[in-house]
Amino acid sequence: MDLFEYQGKQYFKRYGIPVSDGGIAATVEEAVDQAAIVGYPVVLKAQVRVGGRGKAGGVKLASNQDEVVRNASSILGMDIKGHKVHRLWIEHATDIKKEYYASVTLNRSEKCNMIMLSAKGGIDIEQVAHDDQNAVIKLNVNPLEGLSLDQARQTAEEAMLDAQAIEQTALFLCSLYRCYTEGDCDLVEVNPLVLTTDDKVHALDAKVTLDDSAAFRHEEWAEFDQDEDSDPREIAARQKGLNYVGLAGNVGIIANGAGLAMSTLDVVSQAGGEPANFLDIGGGANADTMAAALEVINSDPNVKVIFVNIFGGITRCDEVAKGIVEALSRVRLNSPIVLRLDGTNAQIGRDILEDHLSENFITVPTMLGAADKVVELTKEAM
Ligand code: GDP
Ligand code: MN
Repeated sequence: MDLFEYQGKQYFKRYGIPVSDGGIAATVEEAVDQAAIVGYPVVLKAQVRVGGRGKAGGVKLASNQDEVVRNASSILGMDIKGHKVHRLWIEHATDIKKEYYASVTLNRSEKCNMIMLSAKGGIDIEQVAHDDQNAVIKLNVNPLEGLSLDQARQTAEEAMLDAQAIEQTALFLCSLYRCYTEGDCDLVEVNPLVLTTDDKVHALDAKVTLDDSAAFRHEEWAEFDQDEDSDPREIAARQKGLNYVGLAGNVGIIANGAGLAMSTLDVVSQAGGEPANFLDIGGGANADTMAAALEVINSDPNVKVIFVNIFGGITRCDEVAKGIVEALSRVRLNSPIVLRLDGTNAQIGRDILEDHLSENFITVPTMLGAADKVVELTKEAM
């Protein structure tokens, strides 16, 4: 789960990482109120779960109320890389002397946590890293040993940060590393990490990705989840424990296994259709998961046809077929289903389904054939 910047900063605070206090505003009036509370000059920042806000005009300074009104009006409602801006984060503006970059993430190939630090942070970090490999210092941290203050200090020196920033950055890296490990994050990124004109090291931005697999031991994460910006289909799917990603098309897709689900999106696109979603119901594919999956797809008003693509491996097709029959008795469908059922016990599975087939529930033996049928039915439905 990706956090908004303001949530990331709340998360940072728990680990003693220096961030500015501020407030959230959903309207221009609220922005004016928040600016008065934090004190001028302020910075207004679009809250979207995507980077590059600065370049898109989603981060603006304001030194008086008129500028807040002007900038808040222009940023609220703005579209940044397909993400609509519903809220602003407003904090007291920081006087910047230098912009650095710092992050912690997993280095899969080294089986280590990896710290990255650069003296050349800011909105062009990707370009900087691309142009000069040495501009970003990487430190692999053994997860069992953890990060020592000495290692952190050496990294700050190697990255050639300003002398007055070294000790503070070393402490900062230790806190950031603790936030990453104890806070169960997949990524923590601070760009820019700044040296202020009064020589304080301070996190000006916060990109935090929480590790969803650790959610069971973080009840406090629930607060991050309640936001109106998420796709309502994805919220419903998550509540049912499904692995779902909403897309813009009109072919609802259900498959068992993430690889097969992705291939299903591909063949539907290849056949000229547009997937409405990715949905992997996993290995089990019993009546409960199938019914839950059908409910989620069925509640999507864009869906015209549902493509259920099952390949029985360890999960046998006769079990899946029973699951589908039971699920169909529980869910009243708005769209026709095309089912491709193949693999272990496929014929027994098809026999079980025989009596339940209709013009709104058909089976096609091959994946490509089924995709063609799906696209044909979609066209008819439009
Ligand atoms: P991003 O572009 O989405 O990563 O948004 P950031 O939060 O990183 O902001 C982009 C840029 O805006 C930063 O690199 C800074 O140069 C600038 N910026 C952000 N906050 C402040 C601030 O408090 N004071 C000043 N002077 N500049 C800021
Ligand atoms: Mn940034």
